[in-house]
Amino acid sequence: MKKIFFILLFISITSFSIAQKMSAADSAAKTEVYSPVPKVITPGTNNSAPSDAIILFDGKDLNEWVLTNNPSQTATWKLSDGIMTVNKAVGNIQTKRSFTNYQLHLEYRIPENITGEGQLRGNSGVFLASTGNGDAGYEVQILDNYNNKTYTNGQVGSVYKQYIPLANACRKPGEWQTFDIFWTAPVFNEDGTIKLKAKVTVIHNGVLVQNAVELKGETRWIGEPYYKKHGACPIKLQAHGDKSEPISFKNIWIREL
Ligand code: MG
Repeated sequence: MKKIFFILLFISITSFSIAQKMSAADSAAKTEVYSPVPKVITPGTNNSAPSDAIILFDGKDLNEWVLTNNPSQTATWKLSDGIMTVNKAVGNIQTKRSFTNYQLHLEYRIPENITGEGQLRGNSGVFLASTGNGDAGYEVQILDNYNNKTYTNGQVGSVYKQYIPLANACRKPGEWQTFDIFWTAPVFNEDGTIKLKAKVTVIHNGVLVQNAVELKGETRWIGEPYYKKHGACPIKLQAHGDKSEPISFKNIWIREL
């Protein structure tokens, strides 16, 4: 009789603990999600493009770029040794394609023999959405700020005249530098008013310099920024009108989000 009692006790304790475990597993399963399944891609190495990126410049040609002021013409910046260099005579260039939300990678080099000071030293820029001719759009500043002072909301890594970068991560002139930019385009109402402001996160040479900042509008050299309605836009690189030596670019790729 005693034996049977202990067997029953053992069975009931074991089943109770199994039931307890099962109910914990069931509860945990309620917050597990199995779809959608992220697509499988092959990441790049040493800043090379991942398998799902659109290659905007790999050193072979400028076929993905046009002149901003004459978009029917392929960009005529100088191309040699796998890099492209600003040609001030033809001005800004922009992508042939238009984009909305994206992750962008690019590399630039300030010439080793750079001259000039303040804003007139290796000035260029990435316009995250080129909304028109000239410098229309939203600019992340490119400038040589290695021992070069300027207004801080206009130094490299700033959202020009809107957000000071969180750090000055500049490398020396002559060295290649990277930008990784995550852009969320603005959303507009039917009547042209702003519904959701644009946001940008910027990593300069591996360092976070803009952390999901909300843009106040398009970049203005003079006056306050404001929004005007637009859709998908090209990405633009600036040929600044200063006299310092022109800067170069390589390895530009984008992933649409
Ligand atoms: Mg600039």
